[in-house]
Amino acid sequence: MQEIIRQFAIPERPNYISQRDEEHVFRAAFQSRIPLILKGPTGCGKTRFIEYMAYQLQLPLITVSCHEDLTAGDLVGRYLWKDDETVWYDGPLTLAVRYGGICYLDEIVEARKDTVVIIHSLTDDRRMLYIDKTGEVVRAHPDFMMVLSYNPGYQSIVKDLKPSTKQRFTSLLFDYPGVEVETSIIQSESGLSAEMSRRMAEMGANIRQLKGYGLDEGVSTRLLVYVGRLIQQGLSPYTACLSAISHTLTDDQEIRTSIVDIIKLYF
Ligand code: ADP
Repeated sequence: MQEIIRQFAIPERPNYISQRDEEHVFRAAFQSRIPLILKGPTGCGKTRFIEYMAYQLQLPLITVSCHEDLTAGDLVGRYLWKDDETVWYDGPLTLAVRYGGICYLDEIVEARKDTVVIIHSLTDDRRMLYIDKTGEVVRAHPDFMMVLSYNPGYQSIVKDLKPSTKQRFTSLLFDYPGVEVETSIIQSESGLSAEMSRRMAEMGANIRQLKGYGLDEGVSTRLLVYVGRLIQQGLSPYTACLSAISHTLTDDQEIRTSIVDIIKLYF
């Protein structure tokens, strides 16, 4: 592995608790050189999953958080001034294409359409990148894999991917896990007891019922893990839930009261 890409390797096995057959699907997509979209709400385990798969497949992982000012140049690379001359620096996408690895574009629908089209030639049989600034054509390394993620929940019609982009990918659907799996996640990520972790997972499932009744998104697994960690630091479960759940999820007084009522049923 080249030195420049080695720094993106995942050194230790990430803690990932499987939800279904996602590892199987990922491996099949990687072996077939088919790009992948991970869809699911925020904090449900998409990033942790990709880190885990990168570790399992011994692939470097280059993550880019997409936003509306992200340009194709940010992904591909740019000339910079160094020692009285201009030197070309590969961007994150080019590094993964050239040396092999996963390029993970997180929240892809936030990126501008003219930025997204740069991935087209890499996500069909051509598997190549044309760098117009240098005139170079980079053929993708056999270990190159493109993975996108987005949250279908808060994305509006305007922010959907174009069909011509979408139909280059196979997809994995993520959601908040069931109580059994979420209990294991909270327990292993925060160190709380099995009994307390289960109570939190059940409370989380209950709070998620408020989605659509004033809450855009239910409480994420991430926030439940935060509660567990705050409790481990000595906060009472009730205070930890207020601070990591009800105060965080909404600024609407009425909805906050509904969440607190649910919290009181458990702690
Ligand atoms: P997303 O990328 O979907 O927004 P993350 O992957 O960052 O969410 O998950 C948020 C946190 O929730 C993680 O840092 C981890 O603590 C926990 N988590 C979620 N799902 C899992 C899982 N399946 N196994 C272990 N931890 C998980």
